[in-house]
Amino acid sequence: MDCGIPFCHTGKIISGMASGRPVNNLIPEWNDLVYRGRWREALDRLHKTNNFPEFTGRVCPAPCEGSCTVGLNGSPVTIKNIEKSIIDKGFAEGWVVPEPPKVRTGKKVAVVGSGPSGLACAAQLNKAGHTVTVYERADRAGGLLMYGIPNMKLDKNYVQRRVDLLAAEGVRFITGTEIGKDIPASQLKEEYDAIVLCGGATRGRDLPIEGRELQGIHLAMEFLSKNTKSLLDSQHQDGAYISAEGKDVIVIGGGDTGTDCVGTSIRHQCRSVTQFEIMPRPAETRQPNNPWPEWPRVLKVDYGQEEAAALQGQDPRKYLISTKNSSATSTAV
Ligand SMILES: Cc1cc2nc3c(=O)[nH]c(=O)nc-3n(C[C@H](O)[C@H](O)[C@H](O)COP(=O)(O)OP(=O)(O)OC[C@H]3O[C@@H](n4cnc5c(N)ncnc54)[C@H](O)[C@@H]3O)c2cc1C
Ligand code: SF4
Repeated sequence: MDCGIPFCHTGKIISGMASGRPVNNLIPEWNDLVYRGRWREALDRLHKTNNFPEFTGRVCPAPCEGSCTVGLNGSPVTIKNIEKSIIDKGFAEGWVVPEPPKVRTGKKVAVVGSGPSGLACAAQLNKAGHTVTVYERADRAGGLLMYGIPNMKLDKNYVQRRVDLLAAEGVRFITGTEIGKDIPASQLKEEYDAIVLCGGATRGRDLPIEGRELQGIHLAMEFLSKNTKSLLDSQHQDGAYISAEGKDVIVIGGGDTGTDCVGTSIRHQCRSVTQFEIMPRPAETRQPNNPWPEWPRVLKVDYGQEEAAALQGQDPRKYLISTKNSSATSTAV
């Protein structure tokens, strides 16, 4: 890490986009420790600013790499892979173990929602000695880590391993319980000293166009979360998911969630998959109006597109398409 002035850890918003690591991880420090073979210290340094490197090391879009100084005139340092290697080694070596707080404050906190924000809140509050209970509406903890991001991208064993670790540190998880429905908010206010709301977004962005009401058109989250639940519950044996098998699938939206729908459709053995993107095809390299260390707005080929291209002979994305009606589709997500 002899790059002069590192930008990878800056976490600034430039031109409306995150540039550098938004949680200000001490990247230059832990990269250097890894270079020197001091993995244990690298892990401690990594954990200082990141509760769950095993998640970010797998699914973070890595804005840090877009602003790495080496990326000025070549390929950036593979920061995300190094992060993943540090935490995976930490687990393999038995360095990541439950560390319950030595002293309890006697304060009780309820965390509503068990996505990454709820889990991070629970971890920090518990570390500070408060007694934390996490309430989750779904039957498993993890929020979109569990039921949004598909299993092939983030293995649910990693999510459960961290939830179990937090439980071993003293965090109580109550799943299958919706606050405001199963338990009134007033009851939480009586029982706890503080409440943290980490409920996420939940509401999907619909597309109110002609034919939207037709059968076979689903929101991504219906498709993805049912798929993961059925996979975890029964390896898809219960049939409680929307199957794309044998279908011609159109995915409306060219972002990461769309890519997850492409990858899931392929695993269902769809007949074909096409992805509609409203924006133009990005350039392959940085343009003059998008200089380093901005987030690079360049063409990215994610796993879904790679797989579709391998199977169908071409990238599934069609650009500059604004969907006006959906009366002729087979299956759309
Ligand atoms: C398909 C998909 C793929 C994604 N892929 C990536 C990726 O690769 N990389 C990345 O960085 N980000 C990704 N994201 C974004 C990322 O998952 C979210 O930004 C993140 O999960 C938000 O965390 P959160 O804790 O705020 O909310 P959530 O993860 O949504 O968690 C909120 C939780 O609160 C629960 N809840 C809500 N209301 C109540 C209530 N009243 N009582 C009890 N529980 C309640 C919900 O059931 C949910 O489990 C993806 C998102 C989606 C949808
Ligand atoms: S990752 Fe890149 S920007 Fe960060 S310290 Fe290393 S070379 Fe410098």
